[in-house]
Amino acid sequence: MADIDYLVRENVKRLKPYSCARDEFSGKAAAFLDANENPYGSLNRYPDPLQKELKNRIAEIKGTDPGNIFLGNGSDEVIDLCYRTFCNPGSDKALVLVPTYGMYEVAAGVNDAEVVKVPLDDAFMIDTAKTLEAANLHSPKLIFICSPNNPTGNTMQREAVEAVIARPGSIVVVDEAYIDFSPHPSLMPLLKKYENLVIMQTFSKAYGLAGARVGMAFASESIINYFNKLKYPYNISVINQEAVLKKLSSGKPVNREAGLIVRERMRLAEHIASLAITEHVFHSDSNFILVRFSDPGKVFGFLLDRGIVTRNRSSVVKGCIRITTGTRKENDMLLKTLNEIK
Ligand SMILES: *Cc1c(COP(=O)(O)O)cnc(C)c1O
Repeated sequence: MADIDYLVRENVKRLKPYSCARDEFSGKAAAFLDANENPYGSLNRYPDPLQKELKNRIAEIKGTDPGNIFLGNGSDEVIDLCYRTFCNPGSDKALVLVPTYGMYEVAAGVNDAEVVKVPLDDAFMIDTAKTLEAANLHSPKLIFICSPNNPTGNTMQREAVEAVIARPGSIVVVDEAYIDFSPHPSLMPLLKKYENLVIMQTFSKAYGLAGARVGMAFASESIINYFNKLKYPYNISVINQEAVLKKLSSGKPVNREAGLIVRERMRLAEHIASLAITEHVFHSDSNFILVRFSDPGKVFGFLLDRGIVTRNRSSVVKGCIRITTGTRKENDMLLKTLNEIK
């Protein structure tokens, strides 16, 4: 496996991270008098900066090593950390496959990295030749691949993704936020083969914990160590770590709820496809559908007037609205309202 150190910013390599009071101690203390906390109360202690208990649990579930896991304040923190670790502001680039998740570009703006956009093909799949050509031309430090993709919903071709990862010179971030809804397997097994691969997943979607803000990154230990060095020391609160641990020990497998959502998504897709106002319902491996309407502005406005909020993506994908699967009742209300549009 190729070493990725040469892709890391020099200041990051040199950086000496903040050392937390608790870093210097592991074991059972008689009294914690090291961190200037208030000794009274229930949230009076700082959280574990490396979230060991939670990572051990995630490692069990995902079949990986805790040393290959990073937890962020949502995936958004991971995206930002990718830029901060690898992209020198003002000179380095990132490559994104459009249309895709907007945060890759926002985080590039924050970090003053230039974004190279390569369009997906007509089926929203990776155009391998174009993507590799652009990568060779621009030498991006980061390449973001969202699969299943937001807002299109489809899974990218495995061979194409692997071809991009196998090309040396870039860190490839595969965003699997919707993987628990997908019939296709995660690319996690590729981590054993590629040191330049980062896989992101999240507790915000299938796990139903968007409010807790906990995102996961899986990568080689060297990348994880750089992320740990750069992150705010206590990036995940005690409350949020406990919320995830509680969910993971609830005995409710994530697949069951995800399965229910997927069945509802299929019901929505089938019904919406049959409407006269609909031009196309795109295939989805996620918990939402992208729908092309003949008059998306009218549909969006009509739904909004009835209090139903969808995401108008027609500026990004011609004619399209992205609709998230709700509860059965919410979906019934949506379908009933769509039926009323002439
Ligand atoms: C929702 C979503 C995420 C999750 O972000 P969090 O910060 O973990 O809530 C990540 N990537 C994509 C593509 C998403 O749509």
